[in-house]
Amino acid sequence: MPTNTASTSPADSSDKIQLPEMDLSDLQALMLQWKQPKFRAKQVFDWRNKGVLNPDEMKNISADLRDKLNTELLCDPLKLMRRECSSDGTRKYVFALKRGRFAGKMVEAVFIPEEKRGTVCISSQVGCVLDCPFCHTGTQAFEANLSAGEIVAQILAIKADLRSDPLSEALEMFSDVTHIVYMGMGEPLANEDSVHKSIALFMHEDGLNISRRRITLSTSGLVPQINRLGEVQPVNLAISLHSAIDEQRDVLVPINRKYPLAELRDCLNRYPLRKQRHITLEYVLLDAVNDRAEDLQALIAFVNPERERVNLIQFNPYPGSPYQGTSKENMREFAQHLISKGIRATVRRSRGQDIMAACGQLKADTKLQG
Ligand code: SAH
Ligand code: SF4
Repeated sequence: MPTNTASTSPADSSDKIQLPEMDLSDLQALMLQWKQPKFRAKQVFDWRNKGVLNPDEMKNISADLRDKLNTELLCDPLKLMRRECSSDGTRKYVFALKRGRFAGKMVEAVFIPEEKRGTVCISSQVGCVLDCPFCHTGTQAFEANLSAGEIVAQILAIKADLRSDPLSEALEMFSDVTHIVYMGMGEPLANEDSVHKSIALFMHEDGLNISRRRITLSTSGLVPQINRLGEVQPVNLAISLHSAIDEQRDVLVPINRKYPLAELRDCLNRYPLRKQRHITLEYVLLDAVNDRAEDLQALIAFVNPERERVNLIQFNPYPGSPYQGTSKENMREFAQHLISKGIRATVRRSRGQDIMAACGQLKADTKLQG
């Protein structure tokens, strides 16, 4: 039986088990314990995989099992508070946690459709302890680590929403979840247990069966945790690099003071990669800060073109943000210089900017009362 691995204080240990963090064998063990027929586990699990987490909507199970699920488990650990739809098909979801003393705290997830895939950007924490000064989430105080159930529930809720209200066919976009990126609120590797567990749940072949190559984790560069991820769950890795000069990265990505570039370099060299796969180095271009000639030279010297590619990100401003983004023309030029040195470089298209759903804009600033 799973427990809440995200517990941050003894008070959490009294929390109920969350349905989204159970796999089929967990449910089978529970049915045995509740003296229910074994096949009920599969029925409940099939509903769970469709994103139906309210036992009252699980039409083919008995009323007494519905009652038991309602009273013994926290079946749906997130409450959908708001959904905003962008004209480009992007949807932003704001969820409130329900568990114990974290009840009412908000997180966000974003669905980004493309022609042949649907990607969800999920949150792993409420707020973030690592105060990167260009990041909206970083301006919010750290409040909670999400449990594995709360991480998985974001995907389940979005799958359910896309089934009940699919994207308009006129958009010609994929209307289901095929890819997952841990790029929402929080630093996933600072919530290691829950994140590892959620990855395993996403990949479970009886469950959502999302393969490892469709899962990407973005981190600001926690070296020991990246090493462990490589050993346990070598999903696609994205690193928030943003500067290849230590003095500057110390400011832009303050975790660099603890794990400077040389240590990060060693760690990236060791990260296991399958053929044709690359580590992504994310680089948000800030006007006259990290887009100068010396920044470019340092970046070229840092990148290992055999194993890494650079993803240039347009800065997404938010109210009160202290930086300006580099112009589109300079971004293209920066990319061209990298390409001319044999480095794969792409410019990330910003999606859902009209609903503040783009990278680094995620900050849920409303709170429930009580
Ligand atoms: N904490 C993790 C994952 C969440 S941030 C990390 O830092 O990697 C996801 C990505 O958005 C990171 O690359 C981050 O550096 C970038 N980002 C943060 N704020 C941004 C902003 N205002 N504009 C553009 N990208 C931003
Ligand atoms: Fe945290 Fe990532 Fe934002 Fe830095 S960029 S403050 S690590 S969420």
